[in-house]
Amino acid sequence: VSRIVVKIGTSSLMHSNGKLNLQAIDQLSYTLTGLVNEGKQVILVSSGAIGAGMGQLGLTTRPEEIPKQQALAAIGQSELMTVYQQRFATYGQKISQVLLTHDVLDYPQSREYVHNTIEQLLNWGIIPVVNENDTVAVDELDHRTTFGDNDQLSAIVAVRSHADLLIMLSDIDGFYTGNPHKDRHAQLIKELHQVTDDSLKRAGGAGTVFGTGGMATKLKAAANILNHNQMMVLANGANPSIIFNIMNGEEIGTLFI
Ligand code: ADP
Repeated sequence: VSRIVVKIGTSSLMHSNGKLNLQAIDQLSYTLTGLVNEGKQVILVSSGAIGAGMGQLGLTTRPEEIPKQQALAAIGQSELMTVYQQRFATYGQKISQVLLTHDVLDYPQSREYVHNTIEQLLNWGIIPVVNENDTVAVDELDHRTTFGDNDQLSAIVAVRSHADLLIMLSDIDGFYTGNPHKDRHAQLIKELHQVTDDSLKRAGGAGTVFGTGGMATKLKAAANILNHNQMMVLANGANPSIIFNIMNGEEIGTLFI
């Protein structure tokens, strides 16, 4: 595996009190820098802008209004990048910001520009930190169940950049036979080769107070990955250094292959 896309969800980046989880961000920075130093190319797809914006304004619930969410994303995105920049710099790693919208990726011309930029960054050993540009698009905010907290964006990025592996970090150990928060008999599915209607039924609805995508959008991302004969691992991001274990080939989380 030489090119990896890592997607980290809001729940892994935020404490439940609405503050950024600096320890998780630090560990993620350390881990991804380690991979680059081993000669791997790494793209980070990071959520958390709205959560960070809520933290800045001291809000504990996500506002319903789309303009408020967009404004929070604008506040939080720069805060988030500042923290990433500081943490990665500690380990000597350079990063960059790539903000995308779905229409940008739908148009062949702009898609090629994005592709060229990311290839150049990777050639320079710089980690692109990708997020949806919430100021100019409401896809993610408006149809959360469709696009969901960057889950599907990360799969699109992994497909377009021909990544060897998409690692999706969430607040849960993997994909279970049912939502473990509701069904105590739910069991971890270690390997899945196909995302069926039955799998989607098991994924239930959306997740946390920060209004993230839930399991359904992760499965849709996995379906996209499998359609392109690529691989995805869904694992718990509580300790982002779990990425090292995944790269070592340990059986962790759910492997979509
Ligand atoms: P993130 O913020 O990391 O993207 P989400 O909260 O959006 O995470 O999605 C993960 C949540 O999906 C889990 O915590 C769980 O409550 C819910 N969920 C629903 N169905 C399942 C399932 N079958 N297996 C695992 N988690 C599930």
